[in-house]
Amino acid sequence: MAIGNGDANGTAQHTPAPLDASKLVVTHSSELKTLPDPESLVFGQQQTDHMLIVHYDPKNGWGTPEIKPYGPISLDPMSSCFQYCPNVFEGMKAYVGPNGEPRLFRPKDNMARLARSAARVALPTFDTDQLLILLERLIQIESRWIPNLPGYSLYIRPTVIGTRASLGVAASDSACIYAILTPCGPYFRGVVKGVSLLGVSESVRAWPGGTGGHKLGLNYAPGFLPQRVAAKQGYDQILWLLGEEEKVTEVGAMNFFMAVKNDNGEVDLITPPLDGTILPGITRDSTLTLAKAHTSGKVTLHGLKGVNLHTFERALTMAEIAKLSDEGRILESFCVGTAVIVAPVGKIGWKGRDLVLPVHEGGLGPIGKAMWETLIAIQTGRQEFEDWSVSCA
Ligand SMILES: *Cc1c(COP(=O)(O)O)cnc(C)c1O
Repeated sequence: MAIGNGDANGTAQHTPAPLDASKLVVTHSSELKTLPDPESLVFGQQQTDHMLIVHYDPKNGWGTPEIKPYGPISLDPMSSCFQYCPNVFEGMKAYVGPNGEPRLFRPKDNMARLARSAARVALPTFDTDQLLILLERLIQIESRWIPNLPGYSLYIRPTVIGTRASLGVAASDSACIYAILTPCGPYFRGVVKGVSLLGVSESVRAWPGGTGGHKLGLNYAPGFLPQRVAAKQGYDQILWLLGEEEKVTEVGAMNFFMAVKNDNGEVDLITPPLDGTILPGITRDSTLTLAKAHTSGKVTLHGLKGVNLHTFERALTMAEIAKLSDEGRILESFCVGTAVIVAPVGKIGWKGRDLVLPVHEGGLGPIGKAMWETLIAIQTGRQEFEDWSVSCA
């Protein structure tokens, strides 16, 4: 998708060069690192051998994309990214397919979201198809880093930062795109127990008219302190609540789902709507799409034969959740995202009490488990669905 070029302030007198993957220059690392023992992997800590980087300035446009040995970036200390945070990112994963080929999951959706995030903080625009070609090349070069084990993958972090060297409070007319990779194992090892959530409404992650619907770096740091407070009280994650009605928005940096027995004894699968306070997760969309496909008979989710899932994107308040919990109508609850895929929710701390949700053997309930299994099967190219899994061999 070409979304045009030109600087963010609309002041360019000429056409700066578009992002062009055919200009790529690859410099291989002279010494490759020893692959870590997959068992020892801690999320986000292991650097691979190479990175992708390309710079933009308003005069020349996008420069020569480079894949080069992983290492520090040198920037002017006045760079906008250090002061006003026009920084945006994506989180995606490469998986090993049945023939050993690297595969991506719905990568065009990540590219489109990255472009929307960049536009939200007035960063220079770029051709997302060209960026995807560059990312695929990086993954090919680094493919030995994708652990070929169930539940393992190579996490990909494409990033765009504003590099305008000025303290003037204005859009950054210079930018840098870079992408780094890190191998990762299953989020949960061994026995999966439910994640405990603390409902928090004094601090808000996102608000109407705010930026919570975009993947901006500036959305995350304000959550660190409340997260630390929640952890001190013994909770794993924050359940972000909004407004006087205490509407559920997200869990940490994951989307929230709740399966409820409805008045007809059937299953409602509910997640909050994309009203600008919810990050439009690709795993969220995939979960909704698979649930609808299951109910329409297009796919059969393992273990859910004959169970119709009625999907709802609607507001869910804490008062309603407490009532559903008291009535014993909550079947299961889980959160979803690229890193975790699907994680069960075990309890929700709210108003001094703990709403304990149904416990299932192995952690996930039947719906969460079916989603988890199906998503992994599609991501690793073992099950076909739409054009979600893309080989980048
Ligand atoms: C990235 C992210 C998600 C999950 O999005 P996916 O595309 O499924 O990985 C959910 N919430 C927040 C706040 C996020 O940053």
